[in-house]
Amino acid sequence: MSNKTIMLANPRGFCAGVDRAISIVERALEEFGAPIYVRHEVVHNKFVVDNLREKGAVFIEDLADVPAGATLIYSAHGVSLAVQNEAAERGFQVFDATCPLVTKVHKEVARLDAQGYQIIMIGHKGHPEVEGTMGQLSEGAMLLVETVADVATLQVANADKLSHVSQTTLSVDETRDIIEALKARFPNIRSPHKEDICYATTNRQEAVKALAQECDIVIVVGSPNSSNSNRLREVAALLGVDAYMVDNAGYLQRQWFEGKSKVGVTAGASAPEVLVKEVLAAIDNWGFHTVREGEGADESIVFVLPKALRKE
Ligand code: SF4
Repeated sequence: MSNKTIMLANPRGFCAGVDRAISIVERALEEFGAPIYVRHEVVHNKFVVDNLREKGAVFIEDLADVPAGATLIYSAHGVSLAVQNEAAERGFQVFDATCPLVTKVHKEVARLDAQGYQIIMIGHKGHPEVEGTMGQLSEGAMLLVETVADVATLQVANADKLSHVSQTTLSVDETRDIIEALKARFPNIRSPHKEDICYATTNRQEAVKALAQECDIVIVVGSPNSSNSNRLREVAALLGVDAYMVDNAGYLQRQWFEGKSKVGVTAGASAPEVLVKEVLAAIDNWGFHTVREGEGADESIVFVLPKALRKE
């Protein structure tokens, strides 16, 4: 009898924001027919995006590529005011698949700005969520920090009128360190009532920590451009286990599993469960037959669709 086991993280995979964003594209395709234009990959998962593309979604980065009269959907990561203004000027029918938890950060930015705060964003340069959130204000109004080291070089207008927000999919631990550095340098900085890192990111990082403590290898199912999936791999690796991120089962390498007896498997918030099943099947072929599921946070949160796309 083999004692090689697989432990599944709980929770893993789709979050409420991803579920809603994909449903918005699917429902728009049903209601209005192809093509439906989507600004940026609606969620950062290749399998999901390829599927929607086959059904008639057209993914674009620049609104110049959207023809007059088209239906346009914003991705779950959100968009800047400049993009919203351009879409309104060109008269597109717009559906907003921005995750409500990202929209909440956008509103926080507007409120803090109205109160006269300069806002520091903690996030990864170039990520569409960061561009969308920083784009709620005019260019250069917000400052970006990516690391603790960046805090030392910040040049602020008034150290007594500062606040911070963050990308929703960061490492909880790294962000805590950055916030501590901000508070050490700017003791009067104002923090949000509740951190901006979302429930799904937090819960999946907690779950992968539990896996990393029990397993000797961790596999994260997720696409290379998925921020929260990358963070899951890093969180596991920091706890000293071999950790790999794969877009699908085809990327698994048999030698990773040699000499290992406990494999942990999780999936980023944009990775569908069907890809997890394929990974489990592949690992099963290599002798890991017993699957156990971790006990984790209960996630019952659901975000409603825009009214025009709800099914009665
Ligand atoms: S990871 Fe969090 S912020 Fe991003 S779509 Fe999911 S729930 Fe929303």
